[in-house]
This record gives sequence, C-alpha cells and structure tokens, in this order.
Amino acid sequence: MSHNKHTLANLHLDFETAGLDERMHDIVDVGIVGTTADLNTIFEFTSLVHATPRTLTAIASQPIVHQMMSTNGLLERLITGSTAGSLPSLAEVEDRIIDLINEFGTPGVKVTLAGSGVATFDMRFIRASMPRLLACLNYWAADVGVLRREWLTATGDDLVTVNKDKPHTGIDDARIHVDEARAFRHMFARLADLAGGGTLEDINALLEAVERQRMRDLVVSTV
Ligand SMILES: [Mg+2]
Repeated sequence: MSHNKHTLANLHLDFETAGLDERMHDIVDVGIVGTTADLNTIFEFTSLVHATPRTLTAIASQPIVHQMMSTNGLLERLITGSTAGSLPSLAEVEDRIIDLINEFGTPGVKVTLAGSGVATFDMRFIRASMPRLLACLNYWAADVGVLRREWLTATGDDLVTVNKDKPHTGIDDARIHVDEARAFRHMFARLADLAGGGTLEDINALLEAVERQRMRDLVVSTV
C-alpha cells in the first residue's frame, strides 16, 4: 500500500448522539477532521443533523445527555435548526462526507476511521445507519482512546490532558483527538528515531544506554 503524502488517509470523526444505543438513538452532530497518514489536516467538516421530535424527546429524557447538550449550546442549535427545517438529513450528511472522501482520497482506496472510542462507539452508529460511508472505511480503526487508556494504566498519568473538559461538540472533540493522536505519533516517531529503528531490540538498546548514562552521571555527581 503506498501513501501519497497529500492524500486523505484518516477520518478523525466524532458523533454526538441522542443516546448510547445505535438501534434507538440518532446521530445529531457530526465533526470530521480529514488527515493524511502523517496526521496533517486536509479538511474539516461539521454538520448538525435534522432531529425528529422523537429524537429531541430522547435527549430531553436522559439527564446526562440533556445537561451536556444544553451546556455547550448544541441542543438549542439543534432545536432551532430542526424546527426551521434547515438541517440536512443523515443521508445528506453522509453524501457530503463521501464527496469529501472522493475529492481528497485515492479512488478505490479505503480510509481509516480515527478518533477516540471510534472502534467501539461511532463505528456501531456508522454500521447501523451509514452503510455507504461504511463501505469507504477500512475494517480497522485508529482509536486513540485505546492508546490513552493503555498509557494511563502503564504510567499513572495522561500523556496529554486535552480530554479534560471536552466541549462535546463533534468538531471540537474531533480536533482534540487529532491533537492527542499527534502527541502519541510524535512520541513514537521520536523514540524510534533516537533508537535508530523501531524494533523492540532498538528501543531496549536506547533505554539501556540512557540507563548506563544515568548511572555514570550519578557516580560523577556523588564523587
Ligand atoms: Mg464528542
């Protein structure tokens, strides 16, 4: 598989939904940052999705969802737009996303769904209600949430704190997760660069060299 430096490779996507169950709850807000394989931004896309009265009722009946969407102003924009009939349907939003994939991607080459929780959350909603988008996606996902949790478990710390106080609108969250993916990517690339390679042997040799140097510094400082 060849990667053109300027070609779309990843769709960093974040949905806001009327609830957690893709069989019952609709997608109401979509944010996407399209990037190259190097995580350089090619385009941004954001759209609310027309909400039916049933969807608005579902939001109102779930305190956590209602609170989140009221605080950031999403609910008000959603109600105003849906009442005025000015918001696109999910199928129309899907069309626009596919247009962007066709415009910036390589014909016949699938793109990778990226973001936080996308493998387990957003992918379920795509599978349930956006079959044409699904057909454009690789079967794997670049889920930065997996990296974040693994890093926290291993170190007791967050690598970056961008996830604290997330705005919970699609495009803002998508941007935050691209930044987080870049932080991990930069760290991995820098480590492999310093080690002269990316195998476990390369990395271990680098870490052992650092450790030996630290011991020497310690000896020098205590003499
Ligand atoms: Mg979000």
